[in-house]
Amino acid sequence: MKIGVSGIQGDFREHKVMLEKLGVDVKVVRKPEELDEVDGLVIPGGESTTMIRIMKMVNLYEKLKQKIKEGFPVFGTCAGMILLSKEVVNFPQDSLGVIDIKVERNAYGRQVDSFEEQIEVKGFEKPFNAIFIRAPKVVDYGESVEVLATYMDSPVLLRQNNVLVASFHPELTEDTRIHEYFLNMVKK
Ligand code: GLN
Repeated sequence: MKIGVSGIQGDFREHKVMLEKLGVDVKVVRKPEELDEVDGLVIPGGESTTMIRIMKMVNLYEKLKQKIKEGFPVFGTCAGMILLSKEVVNFPQDSLGVIDIKVERNAYGRQVDSFEEQIEVKGFEKPFNAIFIRAPKVVDYGESVEVLATYMDSPVLLRQNNVLVASFHPELTEDTRIHEYFLNMVKK
């Protein structure tokens, strides 16, 4: 199994380190043709506006969107979640539209720009330490989306078929459980 990590922008190195810790072969993906060399893709945290702009520039956007629609597994954290969402509000911006969620960027307010919380994740025995950094908030989601974790009544970890998204940063912890969950999605 080979997993790609989008190296367009953001904290992709941390995802790479974590996946390698799990014994996975990792490829940093920057070109559309590289998508065909991997079995799934992680889109990291960073700045979603920059990411989408560059993805379009290097022709990664259309190809990725098409592949995801055909079942290619993806995992987006924070900015990666924004990129995968169906709709971005406040302010509207382009996104891949492959998971039926509506997100609001930087929605947890200035005073709590960054914070950590122990959250319960469906199927996990112990809580997960979730690190939020200028995190997006899911303000609405469709019926076919499964909520795997919530924080203060908002979903923060969600899945729709082959698309997994987290508004926090599991790659910044030592806890590999969410990455393992994604690897299981890829295996199936
Ligand atoms: N605030 C960023 C955005 O809107 C996301 C922050 C992050 O990925 N840590 O793109």
